[in-house]
Amino acid sequence: MNGKSFPDNVLIIGSGMGGLSTALILSQLGSKTTVIEKNLLAGGLMRGYIRDGIECPVGVHYLGSLDHGQVLRRLFDFLGVSPKIPVEKMGANGIIDQYIFEDFAFNLPEGLDAYEENLQNAFPKEHRQITAIINAIRRNGNKMHALDFLFSTQNYPSMLEEIKPVGALLTELNCSPGLRAVLGVPCCWIGVPMASCPVFYHNMVLATYLFSSWRLKCSGAELVNVFSERLRSLGGNIIKGDGVEKILVNSRVVEGVQLQSGAVLKSPVVIGAVHPKVVLNMLPDGAVKPSYQRLISKLKDTDGMFCVHSKVDALNRPEIPHNIFKIKTEKNGDIVELNYYQIRKSEQIGKNLLTILTSGKGEQWKQWEHTKSGRRGEGYIAKKENRAWRLIREAEDTIGPMPSATLVDVYTPLTTRDWVNSPGGSAYGILRSYEQLLEVSILNRTSVKGLFLSGQNIMAPGILGTILGSFATVKLIVGRDRFFKMFRRLELAQK
Ligand SMILES: Cc1cc2nc3c(=O)[nH]c(=O)nc-3n(C[C@H](O)[C@H](O)[C@H](O)COP(=O)(O)OP(=O)(O)OC[C@H]3O[C@@H](n4cnc5c(N)ncnc54)[C@H](O)[C@@H]3O)c2cc1C
Repeated sequence: MNGKSFPDNVLIIGSGMGGLSTALILSQLGSKTTVIEKNLLAGGLMRGYIRDGIECPVGVHYLGSLDHGQVLRRLFDFLGVSPKIPVEKMGANGIIDQYIFEDFAFNLPEGLDAYEENLQNAFPKEHRQITAIINAIRRNGNKMHALDFLFSTQNYPSMLEEIKPVGALLTELNCSPGLRAVLGVPCCWIGVPMASCPVFYHNMVLATYLFSSWRLKCSGAELVNVFSERLRSLGGNIIKGDGVEKILVNSRVVEGVQLQSGAVLKSPVVIGAVHPKVVLNMLPDGAVKPSYQRLISKLKDTDGMFCVHSKVDALNRPEIPHNIFKIKTEKNGDIVELNYYQIRKSEQIGKNLLTILTSGKGEQWKQWEHTKSGRRGEGYIAKKENRAWRLIREAEDTIGPMPSATLVDVYTPLTTRDWVNSPGGSAYGILRSYEQLLEVSILNRTSVKGLFLSGQNIMAPGILGTILGSFATVKLIVGRDRFFKMFRRLELAQK
């Protein structure tokens, strides 16, 4: 392969949404792709797991913009997976997300107009602020819809207003604590504190869910199967249960990878669809410039998550068609704690599954950080179960009593760390904060010819953000002009 010509043979490290979507794009363009996964099962975070006969979701609770012509739908269409992914639309009862604060509640509906109306009704004295905020969300949402990140020839975001942190903007606009709290929730979804979350980032994420929100009507494992089978049909393959130990580099040119089994696979293009720090650890000394090594090593990551899956009586606690967020704030409206609740049908008759997600509070698990999954002992189990029960009892204040609740499973950031190799168990990878904006924009400049990165760290986390990152990486591999020609139909599909 010369600089920007098309690669015949590509190795991709990691079979999460990042690895699989990158493989699908390149396979469609004619590359022979091999995805290498350290776990026995493919899928990374998008895959759930089964306990007690119940499917417990991990990294896909809901998806935005899946209606015909909307951005995620167009990407799924392009990847050739849309018809096989069963989804159901949220918001039929007028609510996608319900935010429960200590002294008021706010419903996030479908549609920007409806959202604006709800904001104007909840904060009638802040008409000016709300109009300014909604205009910016509309502008950024349209850019997302037009896939501006991939197709614009200008640097994005170009306006200083859009880079500044949400917290600073709301202070300038003199927003009330209530409005500030409501607008802070999308920052939490992507794990970036409001004080450092860039405005465009907040707005794009919020807009994609406002356009339309969806739940999977299948398990995470089935979702992974759809992607894996599509890849197989295009001639790609997935090696499972044999992770990459080393990336082979000679004179700053990539040559292939060495697996944990010792097997060596050769290729002029290797894509690390794993955390950039993991890629760094697989490279030989001196493979990348010291400046790049320093840049990656000191990047801050998003926090890990603590998750409780609990079985509840379906008659007493029926399925809730929207998400619930229970939120504690400072006096000024800044969010200090957020618990996410979802109640969905389970595979067991008469039982529903309550999922609670909250911050992993890293320090709590530090004493077990050098132990392996399944070998952390009684103290660890007791600690996580105690916290789980506290969270379930707290959820009762919002959802109602759950006297017959039982624990199905509880996981901590250490579980996430061990499952997908995410540093410190970080949920959304590198923190895309205002302070790190420049650094995260140059992650793919590895200075090793033929070595690229993809996955949630490239553009944004979430299923949509991760797939967009895959397209951005392919653009880098094939060159901008070629990419524009190849993917014009994707851009045009919105019209
Ligand atoms: C608790 C939680 C809830 C979430 N909820 C949502 C949601 O509701 N909606 C949404 O859109 N997004 C959600 N997300 C985010 C979304 O799941 C992720 O952004 C996305 O799945 C990341 O995909 P990825 O491919 O970048 O990473 P991963 O899924 O982490 O994939 C990386 C893969 O690489 C493998 N790997 C690591 N090291 C090696 C190695 N040396 N050799 C071979 N393989 C290796 C790992 O095992 C893993 O399979 C959630 C995330 C979390 C943690």
